[in-house]
Amino acid sequence: MTCEPSNGRPTVKRVGEFELIHRLFRQRAIQRADVITGIGDDAAVLQIEPDEQLLCAVDTLVEGVHFPHAMPARQVGHRALAVNLSDIAAMGGRARWVLLALTLPTADDAWLEEFAEGFHALAATHGVALVGGDMTAGPLTISVTVMGSVAQGHALQRSGAQAGDVIFVSGNPGAARLGLDAMLEGDDSPSTETLRQRFNYPQPRLALGTAMAPYAHAMIDVSDGLLADLGHILEESRFGARLNAEALPILPDAVAFAGRDRALIAAATGGDDYELLFTVPVSAAALAEDAALRIDCPITRIGIITAGTELVVEGEGAALLRGLPRGYQHF
Ligand code: ADP
Ligand code: MG
Repeated sequence: MTCEPSNGRPTVKRVGEFELIHRLFRQRAIQRADVITGIGDDAAVLQIEPDEQLLCAVDTLVEGVHFPHAMPARQVGHRALAVNLSDIAAMGGRARWVLLALTLPTADDAWLEEFAEGFHALAATHGVALVGGDMTAGPLTISVTVMGSVAQGHALQRSGAQAGDVIFVSGNPGAARLGLDAMLEGDDSPSTETLRQRFNYPQPRLALGTAMAPYAHAMIDVSDGLLADLGHILEESRFGARLNAEALPILPDAVAFAGRDRALIAAATGGDDYELLFTVPVSAAALAEDAALRIDCPITRIGIITAGTELVVEGEGAALLRGLPRGYQHF
């Protein structure tokens, strides 16, 4: 809220803004017993347990940078929340509360309605309460702050990998990138439906994050690309890895659309999937696979953590992946 001249009564703008917040966000936020005060006061009041640690993350989506100008509002609402929930998943935590800061060129009611639908549907799926936010005018930008919690000392960090650990990835990295490519090429055929869906509605792997928490040494979500994000684990853990290019779980649809080489490159470097990449000691690898199967979230062994600091890619197609830019960097 900006400073406005006070003439003794609320301006139309303020009334409109509060009405919008009430209708689009306050009324539709899910209720949680740990929200003492949600939307409507100067700050939210949230209850945390003494044996838990708070997880906090923020991500900003700028139109034209993080999502295309033409992206339907429902997808923007979904994505803005999904990328944040994915960060909580990657810590092995439970997502609990979110704050939503919206910068809008105009208060376009139809756009906002769709945005809110995408946002609230995903929030309801994961039991996350919207407890506050902000609305301001400017170029379309959505900033979401998410808070969650994890049992004391049990957060899964990037720095925890150890030599000999098995490297796992969930889902099918690269599918989202090819889905975006399909849309940019104007391909809306049924054969690319799955790929497009992966880009349009990425699913944060919260259930997998908590299911893997007892087994995993280190975890990250794949937002910049598998090689780049594995690189973050290696750097923070001070280890190397051997990655088997043939083991990357590439969808048949991806090969059909883009061919084997391009599908492999997308799997190694495509961001936007929000799958989980994690390491598990060999002794617990089979247990982790069973636990993932029980929640119906497939995971695949793609390599091993090694002594040293080198990332070596092996297997058929490995040559394609050498010397590739490792992901998207803004600056
Ligand atoms: P303040 O001037 O104290 O910052 P605001 O007028 O910005 O208050 O917001 C009023 C209330 O509405 C606050 O509880 C705030 O958290 C909430 N709010 C504002 N914008 C949003 C939004 N986009 N989504 C959810 N809650 C919001
Ligand atoms: Mg405010």
